[in-house]
Amino acid sequence: MKTKKHSLLLGAHISIAGGLEKAFFRGQSIGCTTIQIFTKSNRQWQCKPLTKSEIELFKKTWEQSPIKSVVVHASYLINLGSSNPEVITKSTRALKEELLRCSQLGIPYLILHPGSHGTSPKKNSLLQVAKLLDEVFQAVPGNSMILLETMAGQGSNLGAEFEELAEIYKASANKKRIGICFDTCHTFAAGYNTQTKKTYEHTWQLFDTVLGFDLLKVIHVNDSKKELGSRVDRHEHIGKGKLGKEAFRLLFNDERFFTIPKILETPKEELAEDLKNMKEIVSLLDADTKNVLDIKVPEKIVEERVSNR
Ligand SMILES: [Zn+2]
Ligand SMILES: [Zn+2]
Repeated sequence: MKTKKHSLLLGAHISIAGGLEKAFFRGQSIGCTTIQIFTKSNRQWQCKPLTKSEIELFKKTWEQSPIKSVVVHASYLINLGSSNPEVITKSTRALKEELLRCSQLGIPYLILHPGSHGTSPKKNSLLQVAKLLDEVFQAVPGNSMILLETMAGQGSNLGAEFEELAEIYKASANKKRIGICFDTCHTFAAGYNTQTKKTYEHTWQLFDTVLGFDLLKVIHVNDSKKELGSRVDRHEHIGKGKLGKEAFRLLFNDERFFTIPKILETPKEELAEDLKNMKEIVSLLDADTKNVLDIKVPEKIVEERVSNR
């Protein structure tokens, strides 16, 4: 039998309840080949430092897991763009802690919302983000990168335009440690269409011109409850939203992105809902894609991989 070139690099944001390493078993039970996790509560500033045994257990479980690609999403509280000195101090400290945790766990990518500028001018805020990122990189040496996420543009959120992310990137002295996470729901809400072959190509061409494909490290795959250009961030199940199936068919059959981890952040009460979205995505793959990609998404949750750990 011919060996396939790559695995379908698809997974979801997975809970760490009960311990960081538990995410691997949950992810594996639905056939994830990549997962996104929080390494701490995403709605609290404080966290206890990781212990040596937590780190070792995580790394050992990872090594034995079929899931090879792990990414982290930073806390939603962090706002490097703020004009409030207290928020800036707390955010910078929290981001250093998050990057340190990634570095300790051997995780290459920490995904960050660029922040919001509030009442201060956008340009100043973007430069401030770059400056604070540099401070964070300096405090936490190593290879772990921070990925700036494309945003929907709610309120005064930074990062709804590719140019804003490019501005941060250009102003940073640590370009090697900055990448981009493209969120399909956010970009659509921000006004970048990817629904047809023509608009899809146009959006990615813009991305390549303004930021460059080399910076693209992770894709968040979410359909959108809201319309193109609504600037409202509401995730929907794949194919059930305003973005629609064709956008995901185009994305998942695009060989330029076969090696980029693609993470679902669609609404869920239980893992089965992630699996449903993953199966929906597999159903969109055409014959040529299936010829080169190894696909491990199961029909049903593989229970023993979850329950006895
Ligand atoms: Zn995000
Ligand atoms: Zn979102």
